[in-house]
Amino acid sequence: MTARLAAHGLCRRFGPTHAVEDVGLVVDPGQVHALVGLNGAGKTTLMRLLLGMLRPDHGGISIGGVALGGLPAERWARVGHLIETPFAYPELSVRANLTMAAQLRLVDRHQIPATVDQAISELELGAYAHVLSRRLSQGNRQRLGLAAALQHHPELIVLDEPSSSLDPAGVILLREAILRRRDAGAGILVSSHHLDEVARIADRITVMNHGRLIGTLDPRTPDLERAFFHAVHADDEGRR
Ligand code: ATP
Repeated sequence: MTARLAAHGLCRRFGPTHAVEDVGLVVDPGQVHALVGLNGAGKTTLMRLLLGMLRPDHGGISIGGVALGGLPAERWARVGHLIETPFAYPELSVRANLTMAAQLRLVDRHQIPATVDQAISELELGAYAHVLSRRLSQGNRQRLGLAAALQHHPELIVLDEPSSSLDPAGVILLREAILRRRDAGAGILVSSHHLDEVARIADRITVMNHGRLIGTLDPRTPDLERAFFHAVHADDEGRR
């Protein structure tokens, strides 16, 4: 059973704003698919649609060939995601938050302590394991959110700007965690404004502009930033 994510014809408006317009997208197992675009391009809205957090006005989404609405709880448990601000119970420690996240993802209860230990080690949160999440710095809260999203080794991972607020060491830990899961067969959709980091991890880069997918970039392109702006400006010109 693979967790191929496929969306077709997705549209979502907020009043007069076409946040997502006729989007078709695939995330294959064993692939890091990066989504890049300027502020307000529609990346977060698209990810929220793909995860069933928002309803599309039109279009459909499936995971492993099953429409989102019919996906059983145990398949949802094999999805990991972090969208915008990481959620954590403020009065619980890092370890307690991760334990709860593992329970919610239906990790076998005998495996939970080892799963949490591994996540704490992978994101280098050992010094904060017993710290209440409300006392964490922004970057460490992001590490906690990533650990919760990744610790159960999901087969499909959706991360919205996961490197935001991470220090350079955290960016490297995140990169390694993503690539490990890709090599293990997970499909990963990640949005980012950091094109140099995208170039390091992505197998495929899709550019979004004004709610539409406007093309792809080759991660091996020497000047990715230039190619990105070229695609965006050409699309903007085409709209005039
Ligand atoms: P950023 O890179 O700044 O995070 P983004 O690409 O994630 O941006 P979205 O947050 O998806 O972009 O926003 C796309 C458009 O939809 C924007 O014009 C935004 O103002 C609008 N939008 C998003 N959510 C809402 C909402 N809940 N109500 C009204 N408009 C919204």
